[in-house]
Amino acid sequence: MTQQEGKKRRGSGRFREGQDDAPDKLPSPEELYERYERFARLYFDNQLPPREQVTIEWSRRMTSAAGRCYPKRRIIRLSVPYHLAFPEDVDVTLLHEMIHLLVPNHGPAFPQWLQRIRERGGEVHRYAKARATPARYRWEYWCPRCGAKRRTKRRLNHGGKHYRCRRCGVRVKERRL
Ligand SMILES: [Zn+2]
Ligand SMILES: [Zn+2]
Repeated sequence: MTQQEGKKRRGSGRFREGQDDAPDKLPSPEELYERYERFARLYFDNQLPPREQVTIEWSRRMTSAAGRCYPKRRIIRLSVPYHLAFPEDVDVTLLHEMIHLLVPNHGPAFPQWLQRIRERGGEVHRYAKARATPARYRWEYWCPRCGAKRRTKRRLNHGGKHYRCRRCGVRVKERRL
């Protein structure tokens, strides 16, 4: 997503078209905004921007982290795969990313916020429990000369017809896993 799009999509504090929808098991974006408001009041003494100025969204594609925060653009994105595996962690992740709206890194100010939130009864962690479950690899491309293999989650364009082995320059073969 470009910054331009980010600007356009921010602002209403509600779910908009184009954002990843949440599966039934996970809280709706509207519910996330409500939690954001409640946590901002309980733990942040309203130092955070109002919900209208923040974008909170689900991402089905985020597999490398439980959540991400883009403080300058005021975007919080939560991983669908991670929270399907750990649905009890939605609030924990949301709180973690909310801290990042004020503290972009995990420097000294970060643990201070962790402590403050815990003292007020909130649960928040520095690290996620695990990596989000990666999407399953479905395709394999292999070199008929050296046997080098590469696995992908999505099928390469034209069944990998245009891809060649890095080592030998031979056209790779495709196999469905
Ligand atoms: Zn973090
Ligand atoms: Zn090869």
